[in-house]
Amino acid sequence: MDLHVLKFGGTSMNDHKTWKQVLEIIKNYEYPIVVVSATAKTTRQLIEAGKLAADNKLDEALELGDAIKLRHLEIIQNFLEENPHPKKTLIKESCEKKLDEKIGLLHKFLTYTHKVGELTPAMKDAIASIGEQISSYLLAQCGLATDQLTQFVDAKKIIKTDNNYGNAFPNFGLINQRIGSLETLLDGGFTPVIGGFYGEAPDGTTTTLGFEGSDYSASLIGGALHSKSIEIWTDVSGVFTSDPRFIKDAKPIPELSYFDATEMAYFGSKVLHPSTLKPAQERNIPVLVKNMFAPEESGTRIIRESAQTQKALAVSFKEDMALLTVSAYETVMGYNFLTRVFKALEDHRLAVDAVNTTEASVTIALSDSEKLDEIAKSLIEIGNVDLEREKGLISIIGYRSSDATELSNDIFDAIQPVSLGMISYTKQKRILNLAVDQTIMVETAQKIHSSLF
Ligand code: ASP
Ligand code: MG
Repeated sequence: MDLHVLKFGGTSMNDHKTWKQVLEIIKNYEYPIVVVSATAKTTRQLIEAGKLAADNKLDEALELGDAIKLRHLEIIQNFLEENPHPKKTLIKESCEKKLDEKIGLLHKFLTYTHKVGELTPAMKDAIASIGEQISSYLLAQCGLATDQLTQFVDAKKIIKTDNNYGNAFPNFGLINQRIGSLETLLDGGFTPVIGGFYGEAPDGTTTTLGFEGSDYSASLIGGALHSKSIEIWTDVSGVFTSDPRFIKDAKPIPELSYFDATEMAYFGSKVLHPSTLKPAQERNIPVLVKNMFAPEESGTRIIRESAQTQKALAVSFKEDMALLTVSAYETVMGYNFLTRVFKALEDHRLAVDAVNTTEASVTIALSDSEKLDEIAKSLIEIGNVDLEREKGLISIIGYRSSDATELSNDIFDAIQPVSLGMISYTKQKRILNLAVDQTIMVETAQKIHSSLF
């Protein structure tokens, strides 16, 4: 059986027309497994509703829930109008029933959140996942209206995780055990349609896999099934040399290695969830990033090894970063000093993006969060602490190390006279990181991109 896991993101799930396109695309595969995001904007609105409820604005929160329901009803209505089917009424009724059930649940969650005055991490996941729970069910129903044997599968039955809400870690063993149910469906001629992004903790509560988590769901499923490919269908033709929404002349990269693509996902390129490539890499499954709206374009192919011909692969950037600098007091020994700084970060479960060290001082670039104030306070024990916020981190990814100096010169010439908060370069990873003020991040990235491509 040649299995292919196809993931469709929010823009692909935007309206009845794109739903139809999704259903057309999957017809080209003998054994597709379909993973979908929530419809465009839905996840954001759900989280917004949760926050409003916690913030004593229950009415506004409930209204948002109703708006989400209405939008989905419209999609169904329009879809069934354009794709008439003898079972139309039945399909419509089952969609409406599901929507009533899920939006009813949402209202309950919001009312509870309002009552306790706080959006707990567990509740946030329960709320945020509703978008995918709805979209996957409804799309599977619409498939029936086009005579496709699409079958909704609740992701909680397969994507088992720990209970680290908001960024849950998959339980690979359990996922492998559960994956057989999809094969049974495929054997029977059905196409499973599964909501991405969410899963289930050991106690049965809902978890989410983090921002863009649907990609990760797709690769977890593809990995467990040893699929022939994992295809991320989106609204652009692959992974770009930079974010085309901000950087002019950004263009698709035809081929990338898992290694470079992972670095790109991590350093700000919003195309893939950072953990997506791991399961694919372990099983050597190609990951394709394809354009829904131009399926004939080849997109980007991510494989084990790729011959790189350009100077660098990409320029990515990330905002809302902070720079934490600690300079050791004379009494604190060198090796002990760094250990203590990183221990503090570990204790607060903070991930570091880039580091620059000297014997007695260290500058760390990381995503800004409230936790940083606490850390800064605790580090005063070992050194002088400086915390700069509103920084942007620009990463030049995948440059050939032999060219490092030449390349750096290019870059520094291009961005003068920008003042840099920090620079770090890792030869093994072939990444040059530059921290700049957030206000000039995009324009600086543009200059770098123009000088490289
Ligand atoms: N809907 C979720 C998000 O917006 C997950 C995804 O689309 O991948 O992050
Ligand atoms: Mg995406």
